[in-house]
Amino acid sequence: IREQNLANAHQPATTTDRHTVQISGNISDVSEAKIAIERGAEGFGLVRSEFLFHDRAKAPSEEEQIAIYQPILDVTGEGHHAVVRLLDAGGDKPISYVRAAPEENPLLGIRGVRLFIDNEDLLRTQLRALLKCKPYNKLHIMIPMIAVMKEVDMVREIMHDEAKKLGINTNDLPKLGIMAETPAVCAMSEQFARHVDFFSVGSNDLTQYTMAMDRTHSRLASEASAANPAVLHQIRLLCEGAKKHNTHVAVCGGAASDPITAAVFIGLGVDELACSGVSVPQIKALMRKHSLKELQAVAQKALACETEEEVKHVVTQAL
Ligand code: PEP
Ligand code: MG
Repeated sequence: IREQNLANAHQPATTTDRHTVQISGNISDVSEAKIAIERGAEGFGLVRSEFLFHDRAKAPSEEEQIAIYQPILDVTGEGHHAVVRLLDAGGDKPISYVRAAPEENPLLGIRGVRLFIDNEDLLRTQLRALLKCKPYNKLHIMIPMIAVMKEVDMVREIMHDEAKKLGINTNDLPKLGIMAETPAVCAMSEQFARHVDFFSVGSNDLTQYTMAMDRTHSRLASEASAANPAVLHQIRLLCEGAKKHNTHVAVCGGAASDPITAAVFIGLGVDELACSGVSVPQIKALMRKHSLKELQAVAQKALACETEEEVKHVVTQAL
């Protein structure tokens, strides 16, 4: 079966009732990008830029960043996109030169987009580097750890400001979307959908913040599962609001690569799964085996479950 999956890996993931799911890659650099493409990834739903910023004394320059982003866009196929996530530092990913005071509770503190308030220079340099890459129809820009609307406005204003300085028409900019990794975004998805071009669920953080369980906690991490019905209801809420404005919804956290949760996400209305390169063929094969109607029925059953174990049982039985 695995060989057959590989042979079909470059075919679209179309369900038996002709609904096509976009299966993209979740990558950090161009070598991972190439591996994902070989495995059949249709573009990249998450390009994690933080690895570029790690383990160094000062932030990467505009030129260094362009040298990383442009080759990724160059291997992105026609009609596909690469979603570059703006620096997502803090929380469980501290970076030495980022200005941030020590905190009692870093996972609930100044992390992700919140860091740009005191580090506007980092945001401006990264946006300038991205705006100097091409083509814009392949490039999407994503903001991490959004909880309130003014964070979106801040990034958009600075992007427009940098674009103007570069002589770029602000009507021609890359799409700007947000990570859905706080319950606040899921609850307010209809309102956010008026202002953003796409959502991408960070299932790792959305699980952490829905369950109030630290994702790195030695005793709690194993219990914090994206298959918990509480997390699935958050994604249901997100999709309901997004659909009212036809806003694209992806999942880019680890659960997108797990067949059980991937099947439920599509049944809940998710449009795209950004998977690890190795799991692309398997997730595509899973989509082709079922109808969207079946996945929707499974998702409804999962939403009615009481526990994560029950969800896993119900989905395994049905598929
Ligand atoms: C997530 O939270 O699921 C996510 C994709 O981002 P990260 O794991 O980098 O926090
Ligand atoms: Mg995250």
